[in-house]
Amino acid sequence: MLIVEDETPIRDGLVSLFSGQGFDVTSAASGPEALDALGRDTFDIVVLDLMIPPPTGLEVLAELRKKDDRTPVLVLTALGSEDDVVRGLEAGADDYITKPIEFPELKARLKSMLRIKRLQEELEERERQLLEANERLRYMSQTDGLTGLDNRRHLEQQLDAMFAHARRLNEPLSCVMCDLDRFKTVNDTYGHQAGDAVLKQFARILKNEAREKVDRVGRYGGEEFMLLLPGTVLDAAVTFAERVRKEVESRTFTFDGGTIKRTASFGVAGWPHPRISNCDELVRAADDALYVAKETGRNRAIRFDSDAFNAHIAEHGSEQVGQGDESRRSEPADRERPLGGDGGIADSGDAGGGELRA
Ligand SMILES: [Mg+2]
Repeated sequence: MLIVEDETPIRDGLVSLFSGQGFDVTSAASGPEALDALGRDTFDIVVLDLMIPPPTGLEVLAELRKKDDRTPVLVLTALGSEDDVVRGLEAGADDYITKPIEFPELKARLKSMLRIKRLQEELEERERQLLEANERLRYMSQTDGLTGLDNRRHLEQQLDAMFAHARRLNEPLSCVMCDLDRFKTVNDTYGHQAGDAVLKQFARILKNEAREKVDRVGRYGGEEFMLLLPGTVLDAAVTFAERVRKEVESRTFTFDGGTIKRTASFGVAGWPHPRISNCDELVRAADDALYVAKETGRNRAIRFDSDAFNAHIAEHGSEQVGQGDESRRSEPADRERPLGGDGGIADSGDAGGGELRA
């Protein structure tokens, strides 16, 4: 605590009283000494005589409050100087007592001021913890726990914003859906921990290939990932997907107890496009292109509405395309099947030999 008092006997009395109570006491006998002490240290509480050699107590208080409105200040005023009391409180004092000082009263008032200060600090600490918890929750609600990428919900929010932005500025926006080929066999053969390790490494490749702070990369579900490439025309997005495809192909994935080679398939769509008028259709187009990539041999990037895409649709019909996720998801051998139902489908009957190139 800081005690500012010019009358030596009172100052000494206060210092010895509060030192005796366990306070770490600094004392000042004038305005300059008080300002000096306040500039050097921070105090839990200040007892400030208003009548001191200038700068006066009021001026010291005004100076303190310019940079610190938290330190509790109790002012000492002369008996009968109500004006001083008002001016002191207006200048930012928290409480006052009049001289001659009644020590029990002074002690009681300081105790109450310290209690308020402590409560305030506890409140602030709790507020800080709440903000932190909120920030953690926000992160968790937007992030895929395994890969640290955006989760599907957050991706879709980003897509909404990006699509609106693209349309407003008439800028291109591309969407790449990609999926690790025959991923299910990794889990089936080496276990889910190996599968998780492969997914994490795949996610890392996508993240590295994407433009930092421009593209959004997220896990759409299972082994399926989505990238949003703002300001990117369809041709450039296909080039990008092809680059990532080669990178995945060249990579050896490692997991506890082994290594494995894996490929990935890509479906690419871009806006503006005559058949795409909203973000759902953009995602659907990329997803349909991914489906065709899977159906036509995997380890390739297929562009929505390209010759290869349209040829496949012409030959096999479009019934599997454009009917939502569920109709398509059960088709390819290496995609997750819906739980239950379809009891008769063999897990890996069509996954054949040779796809594990470990
Ligand atoms: Mg005085």
